[in-house]
Amino acid sequence: MPRLHLIGAGTPTPTKDRWGTCFVLDIVGQRFMIDCGPASTYKLFHAGIASTDVDNLFFTHLHSDHIADYPCFLMTRFDQSVGEENVLNVYGPSPVRDLHERLWSPERGVFWYDVRARVNHPMSIHAYHSRGGEGDRPEPVVSVKEYGEGVVASGPGWSCSAMEVRHAQPWLNCFGFRFETDEGIVSFTGDSAPCDSVVELSRNADLTVIESVHRARDIARYPSRISETGTTDAGRMADKAKAKRLVINHQSDRLDPPDAMTEGVADVKSAYGGPVWWGKDGMVIDWD
Ligand SMILES: [Zn+2]
Repeated sequence: MPRLHLIGAGTPTPTKDRWGTCFVLDIVGQRFMIDCGPASTYKLFHAGIASTDVDNLFFTHLHSDHIADYPCFLMTRFDQSVGEENVLNVYGPSPVRDLHERLWSPERGVFWYDVRARVNHPMSIHAYHSRGGEGDRPEPVVSVKEYGEGVVASGPGWSCSAMEVRHAQPWLNCFGFRFETDEGIVSFTGDSAPCDSVVELSRNADLTVIESVHRARDIARYPSRISETGTTDAGRMADKAKAKRLVINHQSDRLDPPDAMTEGVADVKSAYGGPVWWGKDGMVIDWD
């Protein structure tokens, strides 16, 4: 049975219920992590997911609320390794390779000082052996691939494709994902204003995750309407795509008060008749 963990369902603004974006999709016996917003590694642990259990990480775009915990994730996964984990595959839009190398490479990585210390110091080698590692402590290996529109990656029973969405161009390349699997279709539209790509990504999806940062009547007055989606449009796009289930994420703190939340959910449901989850950190969604 597929499962979606909403590790982070929020924005750059920390609230009690949401902070940053991170999802973990468990499907066809595989685990896919989408984005790595603030505190994701810690929140993964709370969800019962070790960083070493994640082999595939997909970035929608390079806004801080989607990447801020990436160094922590890399270092924790390396620190907790016993030398038997798979190579970590990271997929992101350009310039994710440059970003990665400036964080985590022997030549340019500001966090590589930690790697040098841990693979050489007897204290750290002892810790590695105490966890079950043997012999020399290896340096971490990460495969970073930059993607564009089309198929990003695939494996037995699954493929992930990307489409550009309208968000923070030209400063950031921004994409959504569509996972087509033997257990159904799941889409993550990323941060986006209403656009055809969101509908296409969500087309006949068993579950689609669409952002909604403000109520429809509010976003109409804000500049964010050119890069983000309001409540009613999120429902409209899911309806147009004939998606079977809808998860709302990326709600701003303005949607936190109970009355605002109730009205926001009503907006979505006024345009979409299927089941709706009003996402928040820690939520787990199972479906057949
Ligand atoms: Zn964004």
